Amino acid sequence: MGFLAGKRILIAGVASKVSIAYGIAQAMYKQRAELAFTYQNNKLKDRITELAIGLDSKIILPCNVEKDENITDLFNQLSQKWTTFDGLVHSIAFAPNDQLNGDYVNTVSRQGFQIAHEISVYSFVAMAKACRLMLNPNSALLTISYLGAERAIVNYNVMGPAKASLEANVRYMANSMGPESIRVNAISAGPIRTLASSGIKGFRKMLNYCESITPIRRSITIEDIGNSAAFLCSDLASGITGEVIHVDGGFSITAMNELELK
Ligand code: NAD
Repeated sequence: MGFLAGKRILIAGVASKVSIAYGIAQAMYKQRAELAFTYQNNKLKDRITELAIGLDSKIILPCNVEKDENITDLFNQLSQKWTTFDGLVHSIAFAPNDQLNGDYVNTVSRQGFQIAHEISVYSFVAMAKACRLMLNPNSALLTISYLGAERAIVNYNVMGPAKASLEANVRYMANSMGPESIRVNAISAGPIRTLASSGIKGFRKMLNYCESITPIRRSITIEDIGNSAAFLCSDLASGITGEVIHVDGGFSITAMNELELK
């Protein structure tokens, strides 16, 4: 018996087998959750359908979070299959490519800032708002953040302020939904090579650097994140809400590791 047995969880943000959301879905499936999936657009439909079927899911619905009506449609369609459910994983982020390369102040634009915040941040609370009445007591919502929320990281640029806003969003949502016994948390993930991260200039170099100085001396995997996500969305984490849990091998607790002080 898995610790998510009896829980129905909607996963938004699978784009490929290496997506963080797919690692989360796999871990939740292992713990016996029943899963539903969203896909961003028709180009991704077949791939997500295949991955979802592999995890015994038959609920695969479109949702581009750019528009409120798409989010409303998603939950209208989901309600035909599940009248209530127990969790939402939001693993969605986007900023235009030109925002992720170069000096932050020179690069950032009003439009880039707006797009990054709307898609990567507002969409989380927009989804929560739209499905609030469908969530059972003891439900859990989860999103994925990054250290760029707390520290200035080269080329991460406008995604840093967006992730900082996402983490504040988590605290406000947790405070709002807590009285209904709904918990809201974030995982701040270490860097992983995925479609989204490959848009950040110099990402491979960043990954190698992190591997060399992270306390556990390796990169984080989507399994690492998946297992933590499964725990946070389960009743085992019943006392945890409004938190940002670092699943980064300890990278965020270090400083000046590159200096040879011996
Ligand atoms: P990914 O490319 O596999 O996933 C990003 C997802 O966002 C895709 O499924 C894409 O379809 C979805 N998306 C983008 N715009 C959308 C829109 N308008 N509507 C609906 N969906 C949309 O990459 P990933 O690395 O798995 O990213 C998942 C999350 O993890 C993101 O929030 C990302 O910022 C975060 N994160 C990633 C890393 C990393 O190093 N990969 C580290 C920390 C945090």
